[in-house]
Amino acid sequence: MNKEITPVRVRFAPSPTGLTHLGSARTAMYNYLLAKQTGGQFILRFEDTDQKRYDPAAEQDLIDSLKWLGLEWDEGPDIDGPYGPYRQLKRKEIYQEYAGKLIEMDKAYRCFCTREELAVVREEMQKNKQQMKYSGKCRDITPEESTAKMEAGEAFVIRFKMPKEGSITLLDKLRGEIVFENRVLDDSVLVKSDGLALYHLAAMVDDHLMKITHVFRGEEWIPTFPLHAHIYRAFGWEEPEWVHLSLFLKPSGKGKMSKRDTEQMKLVGKTIFIKDMKDLGYLPEGVINWIALMGWSYDDKTEFFTLGDLVSKFSLEKLNPKNAAIDFKKFDHFNSLHIRNLKVEELTRRLLPYFEKAEIDVTFEELLPIVPLIQERITTLDEAPAWTAFFFKDEVIPEAESLIAKKLDGEQSLNILEKIAELLEGIEVHSHEAIEMPLRELAEKLEVKAGQLFGVLRSAVTGQRVSPPLLESIEIIGKKRTMKQIYQGIEILKEFNK
Ligand code: GLU
Repeated sequence: MNKEITPVRVRFAPSPTGLTHLGSARTAMYNYLLAKQTGGQFILRFEDTDQKRYDPAAEQDLIDSLKWLGLEWDEGPDIDGPYGPYRQLKRKEIYQEYAGKLIEMDKAYRCFCTREELAVVREEMQKNKQQMKYSGKCRDITPEESTAKMEAGEAFVIRFKMPKEGSITLLDKLRGEIVFENRVLDDSVLVKSDGLALYHLAAMVDDHLMKITHVFRGEEWIPTFPLHAHIYRAFGWEEPEWVHLSLFLKPSGKGKMSKRDTEQMKLVGKTIFIKDMKDLGYLPEGVINWIALMGWSYDDKTEFFTLGDLVSKFSLEKLNPKNAAIDFKKFDHFNSLHIRNLKVEELTRRLLPYFEKAEIDVTFEELLPIVPLIQERITTLDEAPAWTAFFFKDEVIPEAESLIAKKLDGEQSLNILEKIAELLEGIEVHSHEAIEMPLRELAEKLEVKAGQLFGVLRSAVTGQRVSPPLLESIEIIGKKRTMKQIYQGIEILKEFNK
C-alpha cells in the first residue's frame, strides 16, 4: 500500500481536439488510481479554450473512452461538483479576474504590440540567430498609460512579467530538481486579445481553485513548467506536486507517433485510439494493464493487473521517466491474459456484439458452450466469429484442396474420409471421449499420421484449416450434421479426383 494516505485531488484536463489515445488514457488512469487509492477525488476538466481546434465529437469520445476503461470521475463537466464549472470556456471571467490581479501586482502587463510589429522583431531575431522571445517593448509602460490605451480601445494581450535575473528551481516528482535561468524565459502571453486565457494562466488558476494536489501531465510541458511555477509563486499559492510523465514513442522507439504513423498502423489493424481498440476486440482490462505498465512497474515481475490491483499497488515512486516505445505484441499478450481471466458467461456476453457485427445470428445460450473452446485461443474478441462461424451455419462447403491431407493425394484423402464415415456411423453418440481412440486407431490402421487424418476431418466438418478443438466441436454440432459434412466432403473429393 502506498504511504501517501492523505486524500488527493487530481484532475485529468484534456483539450477535446481529437480522438482519445493511449497517452491521455494513461494520464487519466494514473490520476484515477491515486484518487481511489487515497480516498480522494478524480476530476475531469475540459480545457476547451482553443476554439479553433475544439471538437465536440472529441468531447464525447473522451467521455465514452474513459467510461469504457472504467475510469469514472467524481467531479466533471457532465456531473458538476463543488468547484465548477469544469470547462474552461465557462470560466473566462475567472481568468480575467486573476490576470487583473497579476497586473495589479506588477507581475503581468498589457502588451499593445501589433501582429505586424511582432513579426518584424521576430524576423530580426531569426536573422541574428537570437532566441525567439518577446522584445519587452510594453513591459515598462506605466499603469496610467496602459489603462488609458485600454480605455481608448487599443487591442492588447496580457503577458507575464518574467523576472530578468536569478533562476527558478522546480521540483518534479519523477525527475527531481530542475533549474531554469530566468533570463532565458519569455514574457509569455497569458490572455489573448479576444480576452480568452491561454493554458498557462487558465490551468494554473483552475488547479489552484479546484484544490488540485497533484498534477500529472506529459513531459512536453517541462519547457513551460518554469512559467507555471512562476505564476503560482506570483500569487503566493502553494504548488501542487508536479509529475511530468514520459511520452510514448513509435514501436521502433524512434521518435513520437505522427499522424501518418497512426494511419499506417490502422491498415495493419493496430491503433493508439481507445475507440478503435474496442472495435478491434480489445478488452478495457487489457488496455488498462498494458498502458499501466508503460511507464510504471510494480516489482518488475508481476505483469497481470486488474484496475482494482492497480488501485492498491500503484505508487508514484515506481513511475519511470524514460519514454517507452509502444509495444503491440505486449498489448496482444495482455489482452489474451484478460480474455482467459473472464468467466465464461462474461466472455460470452462480451463476444455477442462481435458476432452481430460479423452478421452471425447467435444467441447467448448457443454461444455459451462454444466459448470454452476458444477462450484460450483468441487474442482479441473480434477473432471469435472466424474461429467458430461453422457452428452457426447449416452447412459449410470446404475447398477440395483443403480436404487433402498433408503429403497425401486426393485418392488417399478420399479413402481416409470414407473410412472415417464408416467408423463414425457406427458410433452412436459423438462425444469426444467416444470418438477419439477409434479415430486414432483408424489412423494407425491406415498407416497415416493422426494429424493427417484429423486434418481431413477438420476441413470436412468445419470448412476451416484451423478450428477450435475438433473433437469437442464435433460433439457440439452432433452426429447428424457431422455425418452430413463428411459425406459432402467425400463428394467434393470424388469430383476433384475425376
Ligand atoms: N489541456 C492540456 C493537454 O491536453 C492539459 C495538460 C495538463 O494536464 O495540465 O495537454
